[in-house]
Amino acid sequence: MGNYFRNIWLGVWTVLVGMRITINHLVMRKVTNQYPDRYPDLKSLEEAKLVPTNSRNRLFVDKEDCNGCKGCERDCPVNCISVETTRVTPGDTVPLLRSGGKRNLWVTNFTIDMAKCCFCSLCTQACPTSAIVHTSEFEYSEYNRNDLVYQFSPFSPEEAQVKKDMFANYQAEQAAKKAAAAAVAPAPAATQENV
Ligand code: SF4
Ligand code: SF4
Repeated sequence: MGNYFRNIWLGVWTVLVGMRITINHLVMRKVTNQYPDRYPDLKSLEEAKLVPTNSRNRLFVDKEDCNGCKGCERDCPVNCISVETTRVTPGDTVPLLRSGGKRNLWVTNFTIDMAKCCFCSLCTQACPTSAIVHTSEFEYSEYNRNDLVYQFSPFSPEEAQVKKDMFANYQAEQAAKKAAAAAVAPAPAATQENV
């Protein structure tokens, strides 16, 4: 008989212990939070998105400061950067780089496929003008994979073609001038061996 009532009491007691743990968790401070409410003390979603300044997120290229050296493309271990350049034609209007340097190349195409990027940051370390940097933006998922290929050329395809054509025409003119100069040059004087 004593066992009977002891078992009933044990059953009630263990339910009460379980309920106490459950009720404690309802009122205790959260240790994990649903994204994006990671910092419940912050007021806005924008504040909640703050990340450490040295974190590696979506890349950005300052078009005004990229000199087209292709250092980032060469050092990228997964080949997700593609840079195409053409030389600046003499006489063309060329703004200085934002950092003050002289521009010798137009960047006619510059893409980064962020779907392939492994965030190693080697590209940012290779850049002589600090034109390519990691931003704080980490929310950039897309439904279409192609939308993760970002374009950083300052030119539209048509404008880029104009720049390429300008330099091709300049090269053709230079080649024509050289050929004309060679045609009118006097024949070399005969030497003793030629006689
Ligand atoms: S962070 Fe690394 S993988 Fe991503 S683009 Fe730069 S070099 Fe390539
Ligand atoms: S982003 Fe930097 S490393 Fe890449 S091509 Fe431009 S200047 Fe060179």
